[in-house]
Order: sequence, then C-alpha cells, then structure tokens
Amino acid sequence: MADDSARTGAAGKPAKPCPICGKPSVAAAKPFCSDRCRDVDLNRWLSGSYAIPAREGEEEESE
Ligand SMILES: [Zn+2]
Repeated sequence: MADDSARTGAAGKPAKPCPICGKPSVAAAKPFCSDRCRDVDLNRWLSGSYAIPAREGEEEESE
C-alpha cells in the first residue's frame, strides 16, 4: 500500500506526531507539540538514565 495518505498540508514535509501525546508537532518545540511534552520526554530520558532496570534472575535457583 504505497499511498500518499500522509498529507498534512505542510510545505511538503509531513509533520511528525508528538512522541508523547501524538498530537501534531510544532516548530517551536520540535519534535514535540509543546514545551510541556518536551519536558515530559526529558524527564523520561533522565529517569530512564538513572533508573537501571534491576533484573532479578540471578538467584533463581529451583527449590
Ligand atoms: Zn505532545
């Protein structure tokens, strides 16, 4: 299905949706729709960077 259904009406470039909420992004806060979403993403990135996923599977010995 190769159809040009992704027409956004922009100047040729399809506007990518905000990765946070899915709304159309704005140039002022690319690639997000607002500063708020950009902040949310930043927080996610920071927390994800600090929060190391602790996998408990080392001491999984059968009883
Ligand atoms: Zn957003």
